[in-house]
Amino acid sequence: MALTRRRTKIVATLGPAVDSPDVLDAVLRAGVDVARINFSHGSAEEHLARAARFREASARVGKFAAILADLPGPKLRVKLTAERSLMIGDSLSFSLSSQPIHADDLVLTEPEVLADVRPGQRMLLDDGRLQLDAVGVDGGRLMARVVVGGTLKPNKGLNLPDTPLTISAVTDRDRAALTVAAKAGVDWVAVSFVRGPEAADEVRAAMAAVGLSRPIIAKVERPEAVARAVAVVQAFDGVMVARGDLGVEIPLERVPTVQKMLIAECRAAGKPVITATDMLDSMRENPRPTRAEASDVANAIFDGTDAVMLSGETAVGRYPVEAVNCMARIAAETEAHLRDSGVESGLDYNRPDRGVDDPLAVAACSLAEEVNAAALILPTLSGRTARLVVRHRPWSRVVAVAPSDAVLCSLALDWGVIPVRMTPTGTGGDRMATAVRDAFAAGTVKAGERVVILAGHPTEGGPLHPTLRLVGVGANGESVEP
Ligand code: ATP
Ligand code: MG
Ligand code: MG
Repeated sequence: MALTRRRTKIVATLGPAVDSPDVLDAVLRAGVDVARINFSHGSAEEHLARAARFREASARVGKFAAILADLPGPKLRVKLTAERSLMIGDSLSFSLSSQPIHADDLVLTEPEVLADVRPGQRMLLDDGRLQLDAVGVDGGRLMARVVVGGTLKPNKGLNLPDTPLTISAVTDRDRAALTVAAKAGVDWVAVSFVRGPEAADEVRAAMAAVGLSRPIIAKVERPEAVARAVAVVQAFDGVMVARGDLGVEIPLERVPTVQKMLIAECRAAGKPVITATDMLDSMRENPRPTRAEASDVANAIFDGTDAVMLSGETAVGRYPVEAVNCMARIAAETEAHLRDSGVESGLDYNRPDRGVDDPLAVAACSLAEEVNAAALILPTLSGRTARLVVRHRPWSRVVAVAPSDAVLCSLALDWGVIPVRMTPTGTGGDRMATAVRDAFAAGTVKAGERVVILAGHPTEGGPLHPTLRLVGVGANGESVEP
């Protein structure tokens, strides 16, 4: 394993373009840390097969990588079997039920929502590329007029930014998706169209019903969630800045500032945040991105994002490996600049809710910096210690050593974290020394290096005695005097 590595994590959406084992290995080697399975597209069999192939590929490549199940949420999609061309001024009809009334009626995944639509409200298709205006209900159909035309492809989304949604946070499709996600053994679950913190409890209950207990991500893409961002961050385990729908649901010009606000809130809370959608979109068709796209990736990293995400670029694009490579290069260059220019983390240390853990995490980071430690080694059960440390964006390597593969895979999403499996120590064992040995065995620290260790539970099975230790790494990975 390379000893200097990229800190920003890369999420790649799986799809037909990366189905072959060779390509999957190649995107993992190029830098994919997390695979996103979008349950809005494809069948249960495809999702299960993709998850299994991704696990096999991660094992071949030898890294802890996460699988993130992205639930459809109450996102309306147009069920279409063939493309349809929409011209400005055309009249369109949507069935208010799950069956067309006239042959050319469009049918939605959740047609009951159309009852909330009022004349004059906007109906946006395909991430806002096409726009309709609602005209009114007539004989079991909602009529609409095309305002911005184009080609409507199958399964594209419909946004109703002017219509208050009354549909529940977890839909029947989500429950079906969770059953598959549980079978696939995913590491993260992302929830679409979150409107408030209550959604977290609803989702956790639906997950428990299928025996799934994993951290959850709120996809922020509705105005209600932006307005309640602090509460949403608190209720969930992480956030995705889902710019595709967000840019349709709120004025497009607000997206960059909302992105910065969400990233700042997540860092303050020590929870991972993914910046998503259109990052290198032109690479679906081209081997090189636009300058604006390269800047977009870099700027998300300047904002402090944990991860950057590829969607169609890897799911259906012509250049999936090049897209991951390109993203990894932009990340490495941006990080080098951040490190060399000594940009301050900008975190607010005066928050009233810091407890004792955060001051210790800060102390660990500054100690590592001051003594020029090669690595911060963090034995952790839940991943929390690692998350508290990386929110301060230390430049020493960060090695999280945990006994659970599920925790290690989930940490693949967090900025800078290198996951390493912990050897069982037995009750009374020294977890700090064990962590150093495990980090050494995994090739993440070398003999002669100096490391800082922070543990909440320094002794296996022992009490919470938050402990900071500075040691040298011996010839066989044992802890020696620094
Ligand atoms: P979301 O709003 O959840 O991001 P999306 O429709 O934008 O949904 P993405 O996962 O962002 O979907 O992917 C972008 C495009 O790539 C999709 O619109 C779709 O055309 C294609 N795509 C994604 N996943 C698949 C898949 N598994 N099979 C086929 N096409 C896919
Ligand atoms: Mg998308
Ligand atoms: Mg979406």
